[in-house]
Amino acid sequence: MSKERLYLFDTTLRDGAQTSGVDFSLADKILIAGMLDELGVDYVEGGYPGANPTDTGFFEEKRTDRATFTAFGMTKRAGVSLSNDPGLRDLLAAHADAICFVAKTWDYHVEVALKTSEQENLEGIRQSVAAAREAGREVLLDCEHFFDGYKANPAYALACAKAAHDAGARWVVLCDTNGGTMPEEVAAIVAEVAKTIPGDHLGIHAHNDTDQAIANSLAAVRAGARQVQGTLNGIGERCGNASLTSLIPTLMLKPAYAERFEIGISEAGLAGLTPLAHRFDELVNRAPNRQAAYVGASAFTTKAGIHASAIARDPRTYEHVPPEKVGNRRHVLVSDQAGKANLIAELSRMGIAVDRADRRLDTLLSELKAREAIGYAYENADASFELLARRTLGDVPDYFEVESFHVTVERRHNALGELVSVSEAVVKMIVGGERLLSVSEGNGPVNALDRALRKDLGDYRHAIADLELTDYRVRILNGGTEAVTRVLIESSDASGDSWFTVGVSENIVDASFEALIDSMTYKLMRAGVEPT
Ligand SMILES: [Zn+2]
Repeated sequence: MSKERLYLFDTTLRDGAQTSGVDFSLADKILIAGMLDELGVDYVEGGYPGANPTDTGFFEEKRTDRATFTAFGMTKRAGVSLSNDPGLRDLLAAHADAICFVAKTWDYHVEVALKTSEQENLEGIRQSVAAAREAGREVLLDCEHFFDGYKANPAYALACAKAAHDAGARWVVLCDTNGGTMPEEVAAIVAEVAKTIPGDHLGIHAHNDTDQAIANSLAAVRAGARQVQGTLNGIGERCGNASLTSLIPTLMLKPAYAERFEIGISEAGLAGLTPLAHRFDELVNRAPNRQAAYVGASAFTTKAGIHASAIARDPRTYEHVPPEKVGNRRHVLVSDQAGKANLIAELSRMGIAVDRADRRLDTLLSELKAREAIGYAYENADASFELLARRTLGDVPDYFEVESFHVTVERRHNALGELVSVSEAVVKMIVGGERLLSVSEGNGPVNALDRALRKDLGDYRHAIADLELTDYRVRILNGGTEAVTRVLIESSDASGDSWFTVGVSENIVDASFEALIDSMTYKLMRAGVEPT
């Protein structure tokens, strides 16, 4: 039986740009369009040409190879002719394969917001769609507030959708603009609309205001819609849009959808989804959501000992899909709840085979518990855990030894009279039997230490040249002046890999230093560098 084709429409660069804290540059947009194109989505909506210089610049050329490159804009304004509408002119001038018009379909909005007549709004839809078709573009109509509009006045909402379809729009997209519609309402309304407009011309654009954007999208698909709109990692205004990062694996891995539909994403694309989701977060400078479905760091993570031993025996006992299918991985947390089973499972994932009867395992377990009692948290610091484990088992090389360090922080006015803060670090270390002294300035004490360490790591310098500190998190434990500080550092390198290290001390600089040293040692060890 041949499968029905479902089309994925990405609006990360248009609706996703409405996310608070997200501000795409032209270079970001070009990069993200490339990522989406490579992933295999069918449509990449790039923005609103004419609305701002970035979007106008973005549409100066086609930015996708495979995906239908789509420009977004309003239908013709009421009271002006097609040729006198500057918005429409900008849209038609954009180097896009398709134009997605947005139009009001809720009678209340037509009267109150547009201050125009229902008839004139319908005419605007008709003329705009026809003009874009004449210009050789594929056309989509985003029916704004469709579900609320349909509940208020079904005949008018449907008339708007039909006007677009009759004028030659390839897709009529039903938008839950406020994001408050329930899945059962979406299902009922889409099924009704599909009696007038065939489902393979209907799209769904769901927002996540009741945490049901995915449920609403799937309800629409089951009711007949064949285009689904969404964004990477579900970014978007307010609570976001439907997350394509969650939808794609569901459509490809859940039999109810996978057996019935096919989408444009390959198995390889699916297997690259987790790295892609993280790269995207990196680009928009957001901390990844650890609990994101499929791609979150915790999505296949188990903590309790009893689950861990079951997972070690058969992963299917606690995993709804195999993590590697989406490019994620199984992770057994090593924590103070750890039993031997967790430990063995995690060690074996790292490629360390240890016999259950090995006494060093008990040493590692008690060391782990003692350290967690004073504030270390290894469940979020995989690299520090691996170092601790390998040290206990005796296979971490002694790359270098830090004898002492000294950091100063100075806040003063510079020659221009500006208030500046300058840090200087002096590190004394022994590398390859040689005593070295390294001095460096930085914009803060940790930065100065990092630079001083890198400056004089002798033969190791080239091996850590691409190491980058990508995230730095500080937690104060216990509270009060006797507080202990826990620092978690995320590092990455040119290969795209990232790892976490942890340091704990009463002193924040000291804790940072410990995490920093772990990160460098881990990088050297993984690169297979021989100690000098
Ligand atoms: Zn939207």
